[in-house]
Amino acid sequence: MKKIFPIKGAIQNYAWGGKEFIPDLMRLRNADSQPFAEVWLGAHQRGPAQLIVDGEEMSLKDFLEKNPEALGEKVINKFGKRLPYLFKVLDVNKMLSIQTHPTKEAAEIGYYAEEKTGIPITAFNRNYKDDNHKPEVMVAMTEFWLLHGFKSLEAIEEVLKSVPEFKMLLEYYQRILHKEVDNKLFHFYKNLMEMSQKTVDEILQPLAERLSLDFVVKKLPKNSPDYWAALAFRDNMLEGGHFDRGVFSIYIFNLVCLQEGEGIFQDAGIPHAYLEGVNMELMANSDNVFRGGLTVKHVDVNELLEHMTFEAVVPNVLTGTEIDRGVKVYQTPAPDFELTRIFLKEFEKYFCEKAMTPETLIVMKGEVIVKSGKEEFRLERGGAFFATSGSEYTLASYRGAEVFKAAVP
Ligand SMILES: [Zn+2]
Repeated sequence: MKKIFPIKGAIQNYAWGGKEFIPDLMRLRNADSQPFAEVWLGAHQRGPAQLIVDGEEMSLKDFLEKNPEALGEKVINKFGKRLPYLFKVLDVNKMLSIQTHPTKEAAEIGYYAEEKTGIPITAFNRNYKDDNHKPEVMVAMTEFWLLHGFKSLEAIEEVLKSVPEFKMLLEYYQRILHKEVDNKLFHFYKNLMEMSQKTVDEILQPLAERLSLDFVVKKLPKNSPDYWAALAFRDNMLEGGHFDRGVFSIYIFNLVCLQEGEGIFQDAGIPHAYLEGVNMELMANSDNVFRGGLTVKHVDVNELLEHMTFEAVVPNVLTGTEIDRGVKVYQTPAPDFELTRIFLKEFEKYFCEKAMTPETLIVMKGEVIVKSGKEEFRLERGGAFFATSGSEYTLASYRGAEVFKAAVP
């Protein structure tokens, strides 16, 4: 089957979502002010997109099960009969948990081991939801703040020195720095994650008190970890008024601010947390997340430590490689997906002579006329379509447009 279909994404109303961007993008009413966190444009069982087939809705997951040839031979040979990627729009209003994702090999071992023990897939303490890895690439649609990878050893020492409440931590850290141990970051982070809740509270309580005053009078700039720590103290307290140890990570991970159009890639093992902003995110089709705080969800410290990469990271901000006029690819080493951004000026066209893999496209600005053979439809901002492997199509725009495309490289 070589064809294109309009699709409607599945909305996820997670509590951290914003209330305006996604309802506005999808032209949905939000009368009772619900959080709209994500739009999923994929075939994942927890929220498949709906395909419009001859005027009727059908889930993309069901469609691909009935028509696996739509995936194309190349994808089926490499990934089996499933869409390898999951494409999303995210609107982060409140910070997300600190997390890391497993490698493919680790996910396979972990998933089948948990299946054997009989822990239900929906259980609170279930770590592996599937047998897949979850590398992620994202591109900011607004100014976007996130934590990404460990700072250098020196930068961590500097930041600990700058916070008087971390005096004890600093002394401990400096002892590790001067010790002959293999992995200093591992030892320090493990200590933070295994510290008693009582000690965590004793360190963070005075910090929270000091920062809350500065936060209220707007004295904290966003490029300071203090700002995000103050937000976490406001929004992320644990049950019983305890402090979330994830706050330490706000200081020891790189605080990154992406401008619109800039992207970043998160490979297996890189700790990260999204703090604020709207982005397009493309990832392998998986839900395997190990959390390290800033969450009320399950935190399994042993799994987290096992799958985290304890190396300093210099954030590699992606600006996209122009492969054609107005067409930029955000290249990553992931075999599962490739994210492309297409700019169309007024009356410009984009030709796809043959989609080599299943493609998913969404209009983020302007409008486009999509044509494939006799098929033709118009998509406004927020509109999306799915192109089966082997299909050809043309995008044209009278007013100009910006379109994001997910495909398999
Ligand atoms: Zn992630």
